Amino acid sequence: MSGTYQKLLELDLNTGHLHISAIDPAYTRDYVGGSALAARLFFNTCDPAVDPIDPANPLFVMTGPLVGTTFPGSSRFVVCARSPLTGLWGESASGGTFGAELKKAGLDGIVIRGRAESPSYLLIENEAVTLQDADSIWGLDTYAAIDALNAKHGSKPPVRVLTIGPAGENLVKFAAIGNDKAHYFGRTGMGAVMGSKNLKAIVVRGSGKVPLADPAAFKEVRQATLAAIKDSMIGESFHALGTAAAMDMGMMTGDVPIKNWSKGVDYEMADALGGPALEENLLKKRGFCFACPIGCKPVVEVLSDQYPVALGPGPEYETCASFGTMIMNNDLAAVAHVNTLCNRLGLDTITCGATVAFIMEAYEKGLLSAQDTDGLEMTWGNMAAVVALVQKIAQRDGFGDRAAEGSQALAEALGSEALEFAVTVKGLEPPMHDPRAYHGQGLAYMMSNRGACHLQHSVQAIEQGMVSWEEAGLEEDYPSTSSDGKAQMVVIAENIGQMANAACVCHFVHWAMGLSNLLNGFNAVTGLGFDLNQFLETGRRAWVLKRAINNILGATSLDDRLPQRILTPLPDGGSEGTVPDEALMKREYYQIRGLDEKGRPTPDLLRETGLMFVAEKF
Ligand code: SF4
Repeated sequence: MSGTYQKLLELDLNTGHLHISAIDPAYTRDYVGGSALAARLFFNTCDPAVDPIDPANPLFVMTGPLVGTTFPGSSRFVVCARSPLTGLWGESASGGTFGAELKKAGLDGIVIRGRAESPSYLLIENEAVTLQDADSIWGLDTYAAIDALNAKHGSKPPVRVLTIGPAGENLVKFAAIGNDKAHYFGRTGMGAVMGSKNLKAIVVRGSGKVPLADPAAFKEVRQATLAAIKDSMIGESFHALGTAAAMDMGMMTGDVPIKNWSKGVDYEMADALGGPALEENLLKKRGFCFACPIGCKPVVEVLSDQYPVALGPGPEYETCASFGTMIMNNDLAAVAHVNTLCNRLGLDTITCGATVAFIMEAYEKGLLSAQDTDGLEMTWGNMAAVVALVQKIAQRDGFGDRAAEGSQALAEALGSEALEFAVTVKGLEPPMHDPRAYHGQGLAYMMSNRGACHLQHSVQAIEQGMVSWEEAGLEEDYPSTSSDGKAQMVVIAENIGQMANAACVCHFVHWAMGLSNLLNGFNAVTGLGFDLNQFLETGRRAWVLKRAINNILGATSLDDRLPQRILTPLPDGGSEGTVPDEALMKREYYQIRGLDEKGRPTPDLLRETGLMFVAEKF
């Protein structure tokens, strides 16, 4: 397959041995790249007895065929492993420039096993690959580590750096991995897996060119894609308003979670935390990922004595909600400050903010007291306490050690009352989109292989009417607060989403370019000549394989559920009185997808998707 080198760098940290292996061409044809290819490689050694932070848990850093080309939005890459937070399949994606640089160094991906005797980092300079001593940077936050590695290896041309912060070193279950300061692998705790290997960073410099199957066709489809994005409202609004615009519209529809998912509406908070507030008070400019014509990334500066932020990456919508509405904080400067703190410490702002919200509710209900929290008064909106707690979490200091396990583990320790307001699916705190306002999103949360997730598919964009891919079998209109007919839509959206993630194209850019441009770009790069049906069947195979991996790791149909809090109607707001019909959607989904009563793929489904080999491990 073109667009790849069929090359995987394998690093065994137990021995320091490095070698490049050939990826089976059948794997790239059938699984393409990104998290789908990582899942296929993971499957070969998948063993439920291997704990997520056991050195034997392999950590994959994977690109896709479009990464490193100039196809719009092809900046994404993924980190995958068994998740320390959920115990199931873990994957997290990021944009930036690192993925493209890795491809230019001649690699499709890296797999890391074992644990180094002392802190180490991996240095890749085209063909020259070495393991280096990281003693001098262990303990540094991500920004300082990136600066130190740039000072040592950077200059001309610059290197690109992937690194963990103290949270990853201390095995916080929701530790993130940073990438050039502005981009983070937040979800599912991949930073803790990296920390468990004593691996501080990966540094890369590459100068090669990604092979294209049909350069002339690529040029043509690239121009058509750029034109489509330029004409699209999606591209325009993401550039102008960034993701924070979701706060303003979301508050009207009931999408924004407030006070740990217990309150329906708060327009004052939306005014204080939304896109216009960010633009007026904090925003300095927009940042771009590699090969992106949109540029949605906020670059902010806060000149405040209490919550200063130096010119740099600002909070996305997810963080404005998780450290804003979710914890009843309407100080946007404080959100930006905590965002930078999480970036530096290497923490997922979604799980971290949601865990803080859970703690505040437990504190309000008397299930936790200041004695438990090392004297911190975890009252709603108390940002001084939040800043202190976030630091304690990253260091696993005192109560921070308990909070570093995430909200589900904390709730299980506190008992049945706490479990009623712990909001997780398969152990992962959902992103900041309320399924009571978008029932299909609720089903997608239930069925997502990495736990509640909005980036394995485009379900919410479809329910919002932002995208409509009728050529893939979708209907024109899906009423958001109805559960009827959502199962079919979610299955199709998941199959498309798996392919965007396997090719490693940003979802926002994908929405703006449409489905046919993505398919044409994919074919021009890979030469696979897929029609739409083959494209979607490949996405279906990826979803089923990840599902089977989860079954092997212990997931059953009981894990396909929504939290009690989400099944409780809100008294006001855009989703007033409505909740997803969990049983109906699950029943229809199982039938359409082809899952048995235990939640496993049926033999027919395995046969149809070419995955009969997975049955041996059931
Ligand atoms: S739209 Fe935003 S997140 Fe996506 S590639 Fe562009 S800058 Fe990166």
